Amino acid sequence: MAGKAFNEKKLKKYEEIIKRELLESIEYIENINRDQSIGARESSGDLSSYAFHQADQGSDTNLMEQTVMMMEQERDKIRLLKDALQRISDKTYGICEICGDNIQEARLDIIPYARYCIDCKEKEETKKKRRKNR
Ligand SMILES: [Zn+2]
Repeated sequence: MAGKAFNEKKLKKYEEIIKRELLESIEYIENINRDQSIGARESSGDLSSYAFHQADQGSDTNLMEQTVMMMEQERDKIRLLKDALQRISDKTYGICEICGDNIQEARLDIIPYARYCIDCKEKEETKKKRRKNR
């Protein structure tokens, strides 16, 4: 392993960033859950009760799909953030899981839950794309 664990001070810094993002994501999902429970659930099959949204936001189906998709993304993010917190307590945070090198700090500042360094990440994405095109 070429990478070194971050010192306490850095771990603390990222821990705080991650906790803040985690909180935001949780609030985001809670807000959506609150919004949806207002009308969507009991009116399945009856669109009239929330038709006031329709004029400017397209069909309800699209809106619902978008919301579901965003919630999925947010849930994924929460999982990744929790994993990152675990790595902080394990002191493996900031080390690429593929090559074992340090993940660039500039990258962690933007994506605090990053598991791979930028090189490995790019390789992974190319692999994924190739798989999809097949
Ligand atoms: Zn790597």
